[in-house]
Amino acid sequence: MLTCREARSLLSDYLDNDLDADEVAAVDAHLAVCDSCPPLDKATVAVLAVLRRLTPPTGRPEWIDQVLTTVAATQPTRPPEGSPK
Ligand SMILES: [Zn+2]
Repeated sequence: MLTCREARSLLSDYLDNDLDADEVAAVDAHLAVCDSCPPLDKATVAVLAVLRRLTPPTGRPEWIDQVLTTVAATQPTRPPEGSPK
């Protein structure tokens, strides 16, 4: 039987399906009998769900090029460092 500490150290990988079958079974067995870990499990699931939504998309959206073009076009309006005021 895993200790709470051991179960919690595996929880992130457990939720990511990165554990082997024996480890999954050990975490499942611990969560089934432990009073304190299942709420943490639920909280971790919620946090991971939020983090996954925050993961930036791969590739470069068109708006980035538009922003860069706009910024490049507006740069010369600012005087260079050290110029008289
Ligand atoms: Zn526990």
